[in-house]
Amino acid sequence: MTTHKLLLLPGDGIGPEVMGEVRRAIDWMNAQGLTSFEVEEGLVGGAAYDAHGQSISEDDMARAMAADAVLFGAVGGPKWDDVPYDVRPEAGLLRLRKDMELFANLRPAICFGALAEASSLKKELVDGLDILIVRELTGGVYFGEPKEITDLPNGQKRAVDTQVYETYEIERIAAVAFDLARTRDNRVCSMEKRNVMKSGVLWNEVVTEVHKRDYQDVELSHMLADAGGMQLVRAPKQFDVIVTDNLFGDMLSDVAAMLTGSLGMLPSASLGAPDGNGKRRSLYEPVHGSAPDIAGQGIANPIAMLSSLAMCLRYSFTMGDVADRLERAITTVLDQGLRTGDIMQDGMTKVSTEQMGDAVVKAM
Ligand code: ATP
Ligand code: MG
Repeated sequence: MTTHKLLLLPGDGIGPEVMGEVRRAIDWMNAQGLTSFEVEEGLVGGAAYDAHGQSISEDDMARAMAADAVLFGAVGGPKWDDVPYDVRPEAGLLRLRKDMELFANLRPAICFGALAEASSLKKELVDGLDILIVRELTGGVYFGEPKEITDLPNGQKRAVDTQVYETYEIERIAAVAFDLARTRDNRVCSMEKRNVMKSGVLWNEVVTEVHKRDYQDVELSHMLADAGGMQLVRAPKQFDVIVTDNLFGDMLSDVAAMLTGSLGMLPSASLGAPDGNGKRRSLYEPVHGSAPDIAGQGIANPIAMLSSLAMCLRYSFTMGDVADRLERAITTVLDQGLRTGDIMQDGMTKVSTEQMGDAVVKAM
């Protein structure tokens, strides 16, 4: 079996706690011969700042670039509220995204049957929900120039953000969405606002063109992003893969997260352009943050981090069978009634981070 290099960056707050469970799952998979991972650990965020005054060291940056995949916990917390802006904990993650060119952000919204009651929607609307939002992460209005606030002669101010997309940026995110759809229900819905935005017109044209050229076997539909937001709440199960820009993707993926009702459960992946060997740089992290309010108590839910490992197995190493096994194990422990505090319901068994991690490995 080929040995693959994984870099773990646990970070701050509950990051190291949930990463501990990932580490144990990897050790177990290695011992079983299911995987052959060589695991290294590095520092990021406040932990890195405390150690050497940077949000990530050049050394750890180089290890991230050389790794076959990076698993990231969470960064930040009140302890670092007053550190200089350039070395604030979040800067470590932004640097990783930028240097690794992670342009595709994958946010699945999966609703486990056992937790469907916790959704903000009616149970039958979300039970069994399994959608994947593919958000463009390195372009659009968050990065376009000019981006400024200027003073006007009349004493007022003028703020400008600029939405810019070029053909290649849309082509590559569309290709990621179509490729992923082929491994799922084979349907992509592209969302933009071509009725009021030129970037929406181009987005629509390019996605249509990529589809016609390379992916005619995948079903493609288009929706205006506002209507898409409405449909996401009205009947979320109609979607399989949604592909959209940076801004709309930010909002729509948070809406989708709330549909499932559980922040501590949701993983994410960020994928980059293929390198010379056709391999994509990749980083996997839970959607939740460092949760300083519960850090250090051993009660954080490790499932989002463990699901991020499952995504890593699937997308970076084509180990879909091992990923399935891990995801089935998560479903099993939920069906058994095990719950960390954040997803606790009447009549269920409350467990710690470690007990939850143990149960998942055992169920595997
Ligand atoms: P960030 O700015 O990093 O996104 P945030 O303040 O928006 O962070 P989180 O750190 O994700 O949000 O925490 C939001 C709430 O959800 C907190 O009350 C936290 O305790 C809870 N929470 C987040 N993740 C988990 C988890 N894995 N297990 C249990 N509770 C969690
Ligand atoms: Mg947040």
